Amino acid sequence: MSQSFTAVVIDSVDGKPKGQFRSLTMADLPDHDVLVQVAYSTLNYKDGLAFTGKGRIARRMPIIAGADLAGTVVESRNAAWKPGDKVLINGFGLSETEAGGYSPYQRVKPEWLMRLPDSFSLEQAMAIGTAGYTAALAVLALEDWSRIKPGEGEVVVTGAAGGVGSIAVSLLASSGYLVTASTGREETHDYLKHLGASAIMDRASLTEKGGPLQKERFTGGIDSVGGTTLANVLAQTVYGGAVAACGLAGGADLPATVMPFILRGVSLLGIDSVMTPMVKRERAWQRLAEKLNRDHLAAMTTVEPLSNLPTLADAIMDGRIRGRVVIDVN
Ligand code: NDP
Repeated sequence: MSQSFTAVVIDSVDGKPKGQFRSLTMADLPDHDVLVQVAYSTLNYKDGLAFTGKGRIARRMPIIAGADLAGTVVESRNAAWKPGDKVLINGFGLSETEAGGYSPYQRVKPEWLMRLPDSFSLEQAMAIGTAGYTAALAVLALEDWSRIKPGEGEVVVTGAAGGVGSIAVSLLASSGYLVTASTGREETHDYLKHLGASAIMDRASLTEKGGPLQKERFTGGIDSVGGTTLANVLAQTVYGGAVAACGLAGGADLPATVMPFILRGVSLLGIDSVMTPMVKRERAWQRLAEKLNRDHLAAMTTVEPLSNLPTLADAIMDGRIRGRVVIDVN
């Protein structure tokens, strides 16, 4: 194949990383063993950071952007994968150290690939994307901690109307938990209730610095905001509860004290999606396949062309994206 195609590349412009549209050919792709014809990628917060240059996501440049991809195997030098296989990748350094999914073709390492679960289309897999699979990792982390049981107490989700948040609200609700959705956008209240939130909390009530131990309220939490929000969630978590920290949309700092840990036995569970081992990824995707409400997924998803990335990247940086955005790379 010698024809050219359009991809989004992060390159240095005036010494700063920036997303650019480039015409590439197969010769520009890495020499990995599996060639995938990419159908869709997604827009995650990290993709916004990478495209706008607001975060140093690309650790070498130029590099094809896009942390996720879903598509069909076209060629394979590895026995595990055959032409026609439907596959997806979340993370594994895509758009950071490895060429990513904002390209109609990509060559990838066989060990990064996951088989598309039967019950999802390629588009649905990317509607979930890194954000959704991270939400599933967070739910599993809370459950593995074992003190959190469906129907017992409130689980708070911060950044609830964003990508991680929307899937977390829906997945928790369909798994039987009582979900409190914290959002800064009043216009998303009905949407969050539709996804299964039983209570809505104004984001502002968590962004003001509070005391180290506040009134015990949450049995658990999934936090994609960080900063004072995470500190307050920890301070409002009940004795023996746990909070899964997965993001920094409100800040990378953690202005907290050790009090919730040492006086209430609260646990802070770290969630990383990028280098998660395959066994855990499969568990997360299995949970999504079994429990994620497909109508909710459709309600939270829009599909956008690659050409709209400049606008979309600014929007996700400004906290204006509701739910998930699938990127059609063709
Ligand atoms: P989104 O932009 O879709 O969601 C973030 C949400 O956070 C927003 O929708 C908004 O929710 C809230 N928010 C935004 N800015 C602020 C602010 N200044 N203060 C308080 N709340 C704010 O991003 P994603 O869902 O894709 O990602 C969320 C976070 O999780 C990001 O930091 C991302 O980097 C991280 N992440 C981490 C992963 C990991 O492996 N650990 C994997 C995937 C994501 P609302 O309007 O409802 O208040």
